[in-house]
Amino acid sequence: MQKTLTDKPPSEQYQYLKAFLILGFAMFILALLGILSRPFSFLASIWIANAALLGLLLRFPQLHNLGGIIGAFLGFMCADLLTKNTFELTFVLTISNLISALVTYYLILLFRLDFRNFNQGLTFLYLFLLCTFGGSLISAVFAVSTVPYLPNTFMAPDRFWTDFGMWWSGEAANYVVFSPIFLALPTFKILKTYWSEKKEQPYQLSLSLPLIAIGCSVVFTHFFNGPGAIMFPIAALIWASLTYNLFIITIINCIICVILYHSLTTFYVDVSPEAYLMNTMSIRMGLSMLALGPLTLSIINLNRQKLYHQILYLANHDSLTTTMNRRYFFEESEKTVQSVRQTARSVTILLLDIDHFKKINDQYGHHAGDIVLQQFTQVIAENLRQSDLFGRLGGEEFAILLKNLSLTESIQIAQRLCHLVYDHPITLPNNEVLHISVSIGLSYQTCPYYIPFQQLINRADDALYEAKETGRNKLCIERQLHTVSPTN
Ligand code: GH3
Ligand code: MG
Ligand code: MG
Repeated sequence: MQKTLTDKPPSEQYQYLKAFLILGFAMFILALLGILSRPFSFLASIWIANAALLGLLLRFPQLHNLGGIIGAFLGFMCADLLTKNTFELTFVLTISNLISALVTYYLILLFRLDFRNFNQGLTFLYLFLLCTFGGSLISAVFAVSTVPYLPNTFMAPDRFWTDFGMWWSGEAANYVVFSPIFLALPTFKILKTYWSEKKEQPYQLSLSLPLIAIGCSVVFTHFFNGPGAIMFPIAALIWASLTYNLFIITIINCIICVILYHSLTTFYVDVSPEAYLMNTMSIRMGLSMLALGPLTLSIINLNRQKLYHQILYLANHDSLTTTMNRRYFFEESEKTVQSVRQTARSVTILLLDIDHFKKINDQYGHHAGDIVLQQFTQVIAENLRQSDLFGRLGGEEFAILLKNLSLTESIQIAQRLCHLVYDHPITLPNNEVLHISVSIGLSYQTCPYYIPFQQLINRADDALYEAKETGRNKLCIERQLHTVSPTN
């Protein structure tokens, strides 16, 4: 028996309604915008709707359902009917729009365009191929074989090739210019972190320079028109692609293409209708090619940065415990200790060594020992501040650097860590539970004294040795000033 919409569970019906409303409203507004941009009732010059439909379906797969498609259909229909097109013409134009976006969408799914991981930089090139030779081509063929034969139409059968070329090139250019914005659209959470980070950073003029260069090149295009004008902004766009993030580049690219399109095509409107049509097609294809450059460069740059940060992280962190490795901890600590006189009031070093760790390995196996190391570091890391440094010096020995604390506060923290480790039961994969303890050595310096970092480590090491010698599971402070046991 066939299922109808009303048979669906409420959550599914809600998804249908949501998709219906979102796509219906978005297509209605964007189609109206496109219709208003039609010069002398010819094909819309800025038609965002199809690229938006494609982008929204790709970015938010939950919108891809019957409700969404019906919503998009009605959105297109209402916008066109409002502008007094006949019903037949509106219907055919709407079908053509849906063919364009949906064929491209299904081709992208078919060819598994991995736009989230950017296909090693080639996403927008693949997208361009699928849009141009998929949805745009089929919709252009459909449009020129139907629209000229309808009443009150704006296409004539004798101008088949011109209309076909205009439709095809227009669709393809719109996809390349507008759909990347939807694909690169950041989530609300990413946007919030981006703004809060930006607000903290001081204004840097050098970051605005690529944008200023783009503005200048566009102004140049306007005043020194000619065949080369379309490429004027390319150098500034390359600069911007290596400076700004992908989403900003998609916006800049889009604005540049729209401005260039207008300044270049209006130049030919005055020449003759034929020159306008032929040159418009050429400009549209040229702008698509222009847009691909910065977009591709931007995602390659993004991938390179991601890879660089991954490699940097791996080079600086211990793979088992994810704490800083010895080299990175020493590097960062040296910097902190050297800057202590300017930025930090005090520096505390804690050296931690798990007690009788060899026995755990011997009794439960090396894998259990690894799990103990992981859970131990997790307990410690959860109880440190973001500004504290925590590194694995080797084996079951760790170091912590704390800033801006009094000696009393440092002792309290070290004692708390000692207690936490002692109180935290560790569950092994075979569900066996074991308890561990840690010995800690503490060294401390405060302004105006300056002790080199290695000396601080040596002092903490001496204190740790004392803790081991005097019973373990305890904290000892440098120069044997006090011995504080967590069991006291
Ligand atoms: P103490 O209380 O005096 O510190 O005794 P201990 O047994 O903890 O210290 P010892 O230095 O004798 O043994 C440390 C052991 O840690 C020896 C080594 O096999 C083990 N070990 C070092 N690195 C790792 C690791 O990555 N994983 C595991 N499972 N064991 C490790
Ligand atoms: Mg040990
Ligand atoms: Mg040891």
